[in-house]
Amino acid sequence: MTGGRAGSGGADSTASAVGLTVDARWERGEGWSGPTTLVATARGLRTARGADPAPDLRLRGTVLPGLTDAHVHLALVDPAALRRGGLAAVDDLGGDPRVLARLTGTPGLPAVRYAGAFLTAPGGYPSDRSWAPPGAVEEVAGPERSVAAVDRQVAAGASFLKVVLHPGAGPELDDETFGAILARARAHGRPVVAHVEGEGQARRAHEAGIDRLAHAPFSERLPDDLVGAMARTQQWISTLDVHGWASPTREQDVAIDNLTRFAAAGGTVVYGTDQGNGPLPAGIDPRELLALGDAGLTADGLLRALTSTPTGAAFTYVPGEALGPDASPEDLVAWLARATVLVPDDLTHRPGSAGLALETPRRTHP
Ligand SMILES: [Zn+2]
Repeated sequence: MTGGRAGSGGADSTASAVGLTVDARWERGEGWSGPTTLVATARGLRTARGADPAPDLRLRGTVLPGLTDAHVHLALVDPAALRRGGLAAVDDLGGDPRVLARLTGTPGLPAVRYAGAFLTAPGGYPSDRSWAPPGAVEEVAGPERSVAAVDRQVAAGASFLKVVLHPGAGPELDDETFGAILARARAHGRPVVAHVEGEGQARRAHEAGIDRLAHAPFSERLPDDLVGAMARTQQWISTLDVHGWASPTREQDVAIDNLTRFAAAGGTVVYGTDQGNGPLPAGIDPRELLALGDAGLTADGLLRALTSTPTGAAFTYVPGEALGPDASPEDLVAWLARATVLVPDDLTHRPGSAGLALETPRRTHP
């Protein structure tokens, strides 16, 4: 085993396992650490073990898990731009699953997971919206149609399902149909993400057992006891910046208020922006992170929200000075502006890896 290729079997025995030392590292549950020897594999980064060969690369800077935006619409944005903007993975929350299936595993794009089509009532939101392309919406006419609608998304590769609870914008799913969609998703072992809009809909989603909300609730200030109960069972995708973008609206104030109490009660906050909906920066959105800081998340909390999903071989590299445990959200935002998505092959194709601060350590032993 030579040339920095690491691993002697099992999951690491791919051509793309690379040993390296880095100046600093951040890891979920472990926080910040100093100089570390790692192995980059198809499964991601791991700490080097005794049996691994000595690394022959040194990456000047910090590595951390791949960053994920858990709410995007790839039909409405340039997926390659999202990757260039620092995203290793994205969750598409409403699009034609046949189109999305073709994007998965494409080099140069983020890793893609998807819900497939929005499941909504006949004529319900967003079936009437010009931005919803053909195949992006399934109108579910009654509980007996729910099984086939869910099955179609799962057969097309959906990792989770997306339902719409938005009665103010047209016909809505009745409780029986909504329940049948949830039951069928459960039978497939798929979580369900809900678009929740309008008074009473957050409570309805919670009582039905929805796993994840596509947006931190923004229609009404939720009572503390409901927020506390939701924090025990649900994950909330943030999407704070989409309420007005650079000119925040009342909805953003409501969403930040709800999210502040949800996070304080121990709820799982997931970074997501609704890419494709309005003028969002392609990639990591500084305004989203700063709004999450307003909701009380620390820099460490922001990194946890950004690393909600394992991203396979892809990881994040930030050249230059490391950040530390005392960093503020503002510090983190400035630092992440230098972030790049890497895979092990990027490290082995020197010097084509332009922009990487790589060194070959001087060997003290042959
Ligand atoms: Zn959306």
